[in-house]
Amino acid sequence: MISFNFKDTIVALSTAKGTGAIAVLRLSGPEAVEITEKLLFTKKLKKITLNKQVASANLFCLIVDQKEVIDEVLVNTFVTPKSYTGEDCVEVSCHGSIFIQQRLLQLFLNNGARMAEPGEFTLRAFMNKKFDLSQAEAVADLIASNSEASHRVALKQMRGGFSQKIKLLRNDLINFASLIELELDFSEEDVEFANRDQLNLLLVNLIQLITSLLNSFEIGNVLKNGVPVAIVGKPNAGKSTLLNTLLQEERAIVSEIPGTTRDTIEAELNISGILFRFIDTAGLRNTEDHIEKIGIHRTYDSISKAAIVIYLFDVNELNSFELNNELELLKIDIQTAKLLLVGNKIDESNSQSIHNNYPNNQIEFISALEQVNITNLKKVLAKQFEFANLESSDNIVTNARHANSLKIALDNLQKVKEGVQTNLSGELLAQNIRMAIQALGLITGEVSSDDLLGNIFSKFCIGK
Ligand code: GDP
Repeated sequence: MISFNFKDTIVALSTAKGTGAIAVLRLSGPEAVEITEKLLFTKKLKKITLNKQVASANLFCLIVDQKEVIDEVLVNTFVTPKSYTGEDCVEVSCHGSIFIQQRLLQLFLNNGARMAEPGEFTLRAFMNKKFDLSQAEAVADLIASNSEASHRVALKQMRGGFSQKIKLLRNDLINFASLIELELDFSEEDVEFANRDQLNLLLVNLIQLITSLLNSFEIGNVLKNGVPVAIVGKPNAGKSTLLNTLLQEERAIVSEIPGTTRDTIEAELNISGILFRFIDTAGLRNTEDHIEKIGIHRTYDSISKAAIVIYLFDVNELNSFELNNELELLKIDIQTAKLLLVGNKIDESNSQSIHNNYPNNQIEFISALEQVNITNLKKVLAKQFEFANLESSDNIVTNARHANSLKIALDNLQKVKEGVQTNLSGELLAQNIRMAIQALGLITGEVSSDDLLGNIFSKFCIGK
């Protein structure tokens, strides 16, 4: 459970666990400077005093434990409120052996610091209003980002993103809520403090903003977690071969015996800065084999979760008529995903018969085995997500918690808007406005509870 005791000085390793050229230990709290100072000496083993009022950079020191020199380090001090956490902070860069890291950590603990909990540095930063909750969450996303696109959206959100806009509009809403509540106090006199036209205008703006943010979540989610692409088709179409060719490694088992891929196999690939998660699925066919049936069931499950479904078929096996029949069956299971038709094994056919065979379909033709047109297929995939090159002004919601709160706010605001049009009583309007205010406040952390914060920050790593 996360600690809300901010009187303690906390310490943790801020660099990744393991051996490195250097490692950084971070302290934060009222005694960060004093605790560090106790251990610092000059090259000539004279005690070092740190200035507690002024920040210092790259101070070369020895760390000494009862006359034993432990390491030569660089010390940076930050003075409240100008630090990551908003408290006094010290960062000690030491040599990156695991032994030194542990020894220094133990020394700080022995001298009065306490081990930081996961996310506690960022929790303190949030509590000290260094950033709002959605920005704090973006710090975790930024650390976890593994593609250009996920990095870009996390960085934007950490630097403010849409939360500033939400805060301003939420404040306007609070003003209206108080005016409407004032009307309720004067309900006998039939007065109207809250101008309904202005309220309507605000509602239109808010609904528009929230709707566009909610629409962006679909994109945001795939940018953050990778675009799920299911490769489906009949047994032996070449699905495993295509996966291996895309990845340039032998990940999936390729065999001439139909039904070899009985389970789904997942692999990630970065194409033009976007992370794609390819899922090689069990071939679709009627079968009595129990295990193969389970595999096929999982294929349908993957199809329902995919953002893109690649339907791969052998150009020597399916003609246009048969292909369309297969697709009709498949489309029943595809919900929102984009369908990409890919004809495989063109090395065993000739281009004339291929083009004669499929006059009406938009198809990419490849040879997975001979690696023909694979680069083009990758380009087509990346093109489906061209919005990853979004303008820096576009705000994208990537966090499911934010999307959920936005949805609640939108539902309530729509009710208020209808209410204003139908002259609903102030009391009922106020109720929905309050719920929208609450939902919006949960995003930025203006409304929060210990449980919510505990839940968010416990997912961070220690040292962040
Ligand atoms: P899956 O059942 O759809 O996963 O199909 P596999 O990837 O296991 O491939 C089935 C067979 O087709 C294997 O013998 C592959 O070598 C062969 N194969 C796959 N792609 C191609 C291709 O582009 N050209 C040719 N000629 N054979 C291919």
